[in-house]
Amino acid sequence: MRVPLDSWLAASLGSSNATYTSLKTLSAPLTEETAKLLPLLVPAIFRDIRSENFVRYALAIGAGFAVGEMWFVADQIAGLTQIASLSFYQFGGYATERLMTCVFHSAFVSISLWCLRGRIAFGFAGAVALHWLGNFPVFLMKWDVGGFGSTAWTILLQCFLLLYFFVAAGLLAVFTFGRFAPVRFFYGRRDCPECHGEYDPPLMAFNFGRSRYDRCPHCQRWHWSMPVQESSL
Ligand SMILES: [Zn+2]
Repeated sequence: MRVPLDSWLAASLGSSNATYTSLKTLSAPLTEETAKLLPLLVPAIFRDIRSENFVRYALAIGAGFAVGEMWFVADQIAGLTQIASLSFYQFGGYATERLMTCVFHSAFVSISLWCLRGRIAFGFAGAVALHWLGNFPVFLMKWDVGGFGSTAWTILLQCFLLLYFFVAAGLLAVFTFGRFAPVRFFYGRRDCPECHGEYDPPLMAFNFGRSRYDRCPHCQRWHWSMPVQESSL
């Protein structure tokens, strides 16, 4: 959908036109957020989405969309001869970025689903706005705003993405637990093996799958903690 629309706009406005370049930043958020609502055309899915389970649907739709996008991007870069000779471990940037988009896409669509009953236009606008804000620094980099150069912009973009990743996970945590707890979104509440107190996972820890070596805020001791069994997620 996007390619024909984009070439039509470029032809009628001119590819260096300011209106065209501004509209171009909106094309991905508008088309992708619309595509992520297509599963709602299945009546059983539409009927089943409620305030108790919409985050699960957002995670399923977001991860599904991100996997499709991974495949699409992989297919595009597989055709580039200068990249074909690289080893698999040189695609670390691709892997990290694509895994982060699983959380981003889920967070964006969660706003649409949160407002599904009665305020869908409001929710859709929110999802598009958050998506647009996430992509916007990429355009700032392309336009080299401030004249920092591509190296400085690459670093700025990495910092922004990391921050946005915590915001996205935090939003999903607010929808699920009722408060901003991005680390809890990934690791769940922790159960202290010594004092049996429960706590939100601290940011600083060593991660080994489900267990983490972290510090309990109740007894102040470091130990291997496991997640509390929760039924709410
Ligand atoms: Zn403890």
